[in-house]
Amino acid sequence: MSDHYVKVKVQLEQMKSFGENAEKEGVPTEEQAPVSSPPASLSPDPSSITIAGRDASDTSITCKQGLNRVKSRSKAGKEDKNSCGKHISDLPLHGNVVSAHVGKNLNRLGHDRTLHIKGTGRILQGKLETNGNYVTVHPSKNIQDARREEGFKLARKRRPVTVDSSKAKTSLEALKLSIKQLKWKEFPLGRRTACDIYWHGVSFHDNENIVSGQVNKFPGMIEMLRKINLSRAVRTMQDLFPEEYDFYPRSWILPEEYQQFSTQMRMVKENDATVNPTFIVKPDGGSQGDGIYLIRDPSDLKVMVGSQAKQAVVQEYIQKPLLIDKLKFDIRLYVLVKSMEPLEIYIAKEGLTRFCTEPYQEPSQKNLSHVFMHLTNYSLNVHSGNFVHSDSQNTGSKRTLSSVLYRLAAKGVDIKKVWSDIIALVIKTVIAVVPELKVYYQADIPPGKPGPTCFQILGFDILLMKNLKPVLLEVNSNPSMRIEHEQEVAPGVFEYVPSPVDEEVKVGVIRDTLRLMDPSHWTSSAVECQDEGGALPSLCLKQVYPKYTKQFNYLRLVERIAVLFIRFLGVKGNMRLGPTAFRTFIRTCKLSNSNFTMASVDILYIDITRRWSGSMSDSREAGMGLQAFVEAFFYMAGRRFKSLVLKDQVWSLLEQCEAQLESQLGVEDRRSASCSRALPRAIKTQTLGLANPLLSSPAPLRRAASQDYRLHQRLKPRTLRANVEN
Ligand code: ADP
Repeated sequence: MSDHYVKVKVQLEQMKSFGENAEKEGVPTEEQAPVSSPPASLSPDPSSITIAGRDASDTSITCKQGLNRVKSRSKAGKEDKNSCGKHISDLPLHGNVVSAHVGKNLNRLGHDRTLHIKGTGRILQGKLETNGNYVTVHPSKNIQDARREEGFKLARKRRPVTVDSSKAKTSLEALKLSIKQLKWKEFPLGRRTACDIYWHGVSFHDNENIVSGQVNKFPGMIEMLRKINLSRAVRTMQDLFPEEYDFYPRSWILPEEYQQFSTQMRMVKENDATVNPTFIVKPDGGSQGDGIYLIRDPSDLKVMVGSQAKQAVVQEYIQKPLLIDKLKFDIRLYVLVKSMEPLEIYIAKEGLTRFCTEPYQEPSQKNLSHVFMHLTNYSLNVHSGNFVHSDSQNTGSKRTLSSVLYRLAAKGVDIKKVWSDIIALVIKTVIAVVPELKVYYQADIPPGKPGPTCFQILGFDILLMKNLKPVLLEVNSNPSMRIEHEQEVAPGVFEYVPSPVDEEVKVGVIRDTLRLMDPSHWTSSAVECQDEGGALPSLCLKQVYPKYTKQFNYLRLVERIAVLFIRFLGVKGNMRLGPTAFRTFIRTCKLSNSNFTMASVDILYIDITRRWSGSMSDSREAGMGLQAFVEAFFYMAGRRFKSLVLKDQVWSLLEQCEAQLESQLGVEDRRSASCSRALPRAIKTQTLGLANPLLSSPAPLRRAASQDYRLHQRLKPRTLRANVEN
């Protein structure tokens, strides 16, 4: 059997087993799931929840009662105490060390660490020595208390944080309410002098020439989260870690993988005539269900639009979703990427669920076109006669996530497990997209060029399967932050009216994102200080990374490849590697030998680059992009470490490359030390993926501090790039 067919067979097996494998590792299930109970007047009807193999009678989960948090907008400031935070209890505090918050490369020794001691509120600052000993730097001081005091003082005398809301677009309403609750200062028309925070409605580039402060978008996030790019990024991770990434339905990219898709489908059917899978076709860059359709045969694909081949993702359709009230629904979860280096991810404890408006039936030729049955998009279902607008969080076609989890808990579902699976899915997805985001980041904010720091709220769309396994549908770089919904006020006349459910969830998410990004309070402990008059609830955003670093750090292999890639990119602002730079990489890392000559290196470069430039619709620059580089890296790793599985091959080659670069830096260090007019010395940040602690600070601080740092380090331009990028 040829390699190709072996591969197809393996893929078919994977398709069959999709979803059958329970999550094997991940977040401890002690993680508290966000559950709210319905108002006392509403009793959930557990009998209407369809769960495979579950018995409502065995429920043992106690849910908190009587939290009716629906309120009018005018009361938001006062009554928001209950929003997000109060009804969702925080993690249980038990055990010893909560987390080792590692501020530098997590695989390396010799870096600073902060240990939070559970229950005591104490933080130990120290260094992990190369011999593995942990050396405490501030052994006796209760840093958290000190910070809190300091925070109070600061809060009293600091000027209000300034927010430029001129480009906020549809998030403006929720942003205004958030700023008001925080008593910060809004600049709705922008400001001549710099603001602390810029809130953009669409992209990093909504305001050009921001040189300081913070922007709520990362460069490249829109591009990375388009359907094709997200699928590619997740598929790369599926190649390395198939079990860990089995939460994403099998996908093919059109038009380039049309042949593979057709062949694989034909083989599935030939293998087993009873199998009749359904597929969902999603145009790249589409949203709100636009242009989406279901098919049962490759010949039903609408591949062409006029004379142009349509860029799309065709994906295995999840035929058995979990139903509530016989309806399909999906979860919109808000996720904050607070910083890319070091990676910091927060998840909102409260989210939304969007319900279909026609009872679900498994796909058949007859019902394939029933969008109100198969697609959960609010924007579609709101136009169905069955759409139920409700001011309550537990009923209607849009509900809070906690109210849905409550119903599931009442049915006996282990919602802690569901929640921890969801957290794992989120962390893994972010890990999949970060490598390419880093490439975009260094291109837009090159080292040496002043620029803001970035954070971003993402909208994860997640479907629960009947067996309760969460499946990632897509990630939105611009999740709607509207707090009104469309309502048909007269036949055919739609108007925006306030939506308490949206307001409840979205204002909490924006407000608490702002609190976390408050430039005068960088640590999460200091965030508590902000609650001067006790007017703010506890944070509704919960850190999941680096909290769960230990469980997920091993997945960050492609990121290490991206760090290598960025190191060898030539010109500032470039995102592609030229042939000379690729050769330099091979030479520097000593990857060529008599079996793999420089001539073969050139052929590899040409071959892979040509193929990738054909498949990238937006390839403006010539050269090798990160995804092509990753493919070349996998290929070389496979050649060199034949007997290993792919992830070990890649890990081994990375170790080798990093060791080579490290030893060269050592040589450079020695040279510069012996030279009286010392040349700028490289630091190891780039090659090792070490995080510079300065990089998570706001831009002005970062730059001021980095000047200081430079006095000691005298960075090379090449490594300066790494610092800003990291
Ligand atoms: P859009 O960006 O246009 O909303 P999505 O990927 O979110 O595209 O898909 C739209 C809807 O289609 C989802 O909300 C969900 O209800 C349904 N859907 C998407 N992918 C799948 C899938 N693989 N299996 C089952 N349903 C899906």
